[in-house]
Amino acid sequence: MAATPQSEAAPTGALCGGIVVMNLDPPELLTTDVVLAGDRVASLGNAPSGVPRRDCTGTLVMPGNVCAHHHLYSALARGMPYGLAPPLDFTEILQRVWWRLDRALDEASVRASAIRGGLDALLSGTTTVVDHHASPNAIDGSLDVIADALEELGIRSVLCYEVTDRDGAGRASAGVAENRRFLANKRALARGMMGAHASFTLSDETLAACVDTARGAGAGVHIHVAEDGADQRYSLERCGRRTMERLQSAGVVTEQALLAHCVHVDATEIEIVSSSGATVVCNPRSNMNNAVGQSPFNHRLGKVALGTDGIGGDMVTESQVGFFRAKETEVLAAPSWPLERLAEGGRLVGHVYDEPLLGTLRPGAPADITVYDYPCPTPLSADNLAGHWVFGISPGQVRDVYVGGELVVANRTSTRVDEAKAAADGARTAAKLWERLEEIPAHDFEPRGKDRK
Ligand SMILES: [Zn+2]
Repeated sequence: MAATPQSEAAPTGALCGGIVVMNLDPPELLTTDVVLAGDRVASLGNAPSGVPRRDCTGTLVMPGNVCAHHHLYSALARGMPYGLAPPLDFTEILQRVWWRLDRALDEASVRASAIRGGLDALLSGTTTVVDHHASPNAIDGSLDVIADALEELGIRSVLCYEVTDRDGAGRASAGVAENRRFLANKRALARGMMGAHASFTLSDETLAACVDTARGAGAGVHIHVAEDGADQRYSLERCGRRTMERLQSAGVVTEQALLAHCVHVDATEIEIVSSSGATVVCNPRSNMNNAVGQSPFNHRLGKVALGTDGIGGDMVTESQVGFFRAKETEVLAAPSWPLERLAEGGRLVGHVYDEPLLGTLRPGAPADITVYDYPCPTPLSADNLAGHWVFGISPGQVRDVYVGGELVVANRTSTRVDEAKAAADGARTAAKLWERLEEIPAHDFEPRGKDRK
């Protein structure tokens, strides 16, 4: 959709007196007003008289953050009891934690998770969540349940259902159908991708169905790739080639593809990704939490975005952790890396929404804006914005958030939902979810070169 010409759009509001970051990569700053017209940035400059003004003196006005890989369904897992033997590796973490939680989800808990996770993301300055959803016992319509919840909060999203063979052929087909159904309907604040779990839980036939569906909808595939060595072992044992090579020959690795993790990839696989134009999503905190290693993309440039992989929706912290993780072994890692990666997330979502200016605050861009309380304690310029971001900004400074021109967080509070009620509803739903989870054993899917039982 092309931007509405400025001459046709009457101003509807203005953010006045802040330091405006028009662009993250490379940084461009102006001390000015941001004039909005409906869902877009109309112009930068003095706000016309008579337009509702929001005082942003002492703030940084920045493009909203994108979480390029999330699992909102994990939002009610914090503090979840765990009674089984401790998982010893990544596969056991999936079998004993996440593949039990996803089977316990019903429609009510899918909705409550989306409300909780979406609210956490917004309150930390994230304006778009790119989600990867799994609820094998509540597949049909689940993406609309999530889209409805997120639209209630006023946050933008790109959603998909995680297709996998680990829960049998019927659920694999239902997962493909759910993606196809959702991809057919564009909403104002929600779009789809084609979701696939990972090479090591997908047969050639199911992978082909995912690729067919993606092609039919003109969408990219959102998939986990080589998060752990198990994905490579499966591919080498079962398919005789490495994971990225298998996915490339299946037609997954396209310019529109979103490849989460890419930790255990070799030079040939990195070249496959680079030449395809696919976007890689690094999830530094998740990789540390699962002890799977550091992605070679964690300090690379190019089409590399950042996600949380379900560890909340706070991209300020995630981007800082990614920087410090790289810095530990790469003393020359530049502080510009986090902002460049956040810009890449904006470009990714801009591509999905056919909004090339998304992720910037240029005239005509969708007005997805985060306002940080940040009375600069030291001089600030385009040249040192990255240093302020890494060493000075925190999610606690997020004061206001606009999505599509609407003020959805004002003075650190949602304008759309009662946060106390949302927390109480979430806690009630989580308690029931945890009860159901206790009855669900570790998943018996075994990816180590054997057919599933
Ligand atoms: Zn993930």
